[in-house]
Amino acid sequence: MSDYSNFVNGKFVPSSGTARIEVKNPATGELICTVPNSTKQDVDAAIDAAEKAQPIWAKQTAIARAKLLKSIATKIREHCEPLARVITEEQGKTLGLARVEVDFTADYLDYMAEWGRRIEGEIIESDRPGETIFLFRQPIGVIGGILPWNFPFFLIARKAGPALITGNTIVIKPSEETPHCAVKFCELLTQLDIPPGIINVIHGTGSGAGRALSSSPRIGMISFTGSVETGSAIMSTDAANITKVNLELGGKAPAIVMADADIDIAVSAIKSSRVINSGQVCNCAERVYVHRSVAEQFSSNLSEAMKSTHYGDPLQDETVAYGPLINEAGFRKVEKLVGNAVEAGAKLLTGGKRGEGEKGYFYEPTVIAGCTQDMEIIRKEIFGPVIPVVEFSDLDEAIAYANDSDYGLTSSIYTKDLDVALRACQEIRFGETYINRENFEAMQGFHAGWRKSGIGGADGKHGLYEFLQTHVVYMQRQ
Ligand code: NAD
Repeated sequence: MSDYSNFVNGKFVPSSGTARIEVKNPATGELICTVPNSTKQDVDAAIDAAEKAQPIWAKQTAIARAKLLKSIATKIREHCEPLARVITEEQGKTLGLARVEVDFTADYLDYMAEWGRRIEGEIIESDRPGETIFLFRQPIGVIGGILPWNFPFFLIARKAGPALITGNTIVIKPSEETPHCAVKFCELLTQLDIPPGIINVIHGTGSGAGRALSSSPRIGMISFTGSVETGSAIMSTDAANITKVNLELGGKAPAIVMADADIDIAVSAIKSSRVINSGQVCNCAERVYVHRSVAEQFSSNLSEAMKSTHYGDPLQDETVAYGPLINEAGFRKVEKLVGNAVEAGAKLLTGGKRGEGEKGYFYEPTVIAGCTQDMEIIRKEIFGPVIPVVEFSDLDEAIAYANDSDYGLTSSIYTKDLDVALRACQEIRFGETYINRENFEAMQGFHAGWRKSGIGGADGKHGLYEFLQTHVVYMQRQ
């Protein structure tokens, strides 16, 4: 068991305080390591380092910055297996998914590096003779990156990749549930020739280090991924300094299964959407709307598929489809939503209780039919391996149900009818729609939620430009 430190100005440094956070394996309850519960003074020291490094970093050519991102990607790939084990141990996802997360992280840094030669400004026509208007895109300064626990390694790259290639520097606060993989990331940085201060990692709680970071007037933008409640708290804090916020928040993705859908494809995609990472993914199907005429067949096939899903401790058994939920609070939330739905008249087709595993937070793969739009389980984010099913009569009703949500991140529809698919795309009010496939975004797309699912977005050209601010120059010829 190791006691780790923060990573500031290119070095591991002890906290100015003595409080520690214990990191536990959610499958066994065993203690893995401790990290500092950092003080405001620690956060300020990291911002000092990032602030000092930023103008020097921004003066480097974008292609030099790209080279550095690529060197981090290469290091990550060289250490894929040990990194995957660290992620699985502290977060509970399967080893297969953890390996994908590590590879995707490296690919993401490479992808962001490729933007080095592609960042563009604009030349705008002027109303005045002899004048040219230039629009430059310039770095914002120091970015604060606040991370959730569900993809704890990848999210480092989703924040640091676009921040660094655009000439910003960054202070990252990982989730207190999953800081170990961020420590391992920093250990890799020490093996490379990285300018000190461009990436700093501070551990701690949301109310401590998280709040200290987001309330600092020296932060140019907070890029946050996490819950709606925290996103809202960060916006309030940042209002005092008018700090830009980029918020990737929760989801309640509807999946619409039309009467003409290929039921096998729908069942397989929706099931994998709900068991991947134990259902703890912001973009995956959280509520299913199925046409009345195929509801029985769909629900029965889905129940069979879920029932046969093998779960357990992912470090002990590589064949499991999913592992434990992250913690007691997450487990209790799933338990309560399922319990309340059943009490309100919904019908459990399979699952519905704590799964095997002595100490871990395992929940059975669960399907609940006969749900209605007003139920909590249809309105709140479940974040567990649970699929609630609602029946509908026609496309109008399905679209109305889908849109009737505070969330607006991702959505999906299963149909063979191109007209139906197109109408759904035009009328479903969500940032992403998947047609006849599972929900998972591409790094060259744009992952951005509507309504309470966020402000701004990540990935691709549009995600990259979130990390730049414009500077317009009017140049008059003499
Ligand atoms: P969370 O909001 O509880 O915590 C996220 C981070 O915010 C943690 O690092 C936490 O310490 C910090 N934090 C908490 N309070 C804070 C405050 N007042 N000020 C500053 N920082 C604070 O979220 P979580 O439980 O870690 O993650 C799960 C949530 O994240 C789900 O709602 C999920 O849908 C969402 N999520 C969204 C996306 C997306 O791309 N939209 C991706 C992954 C996860």
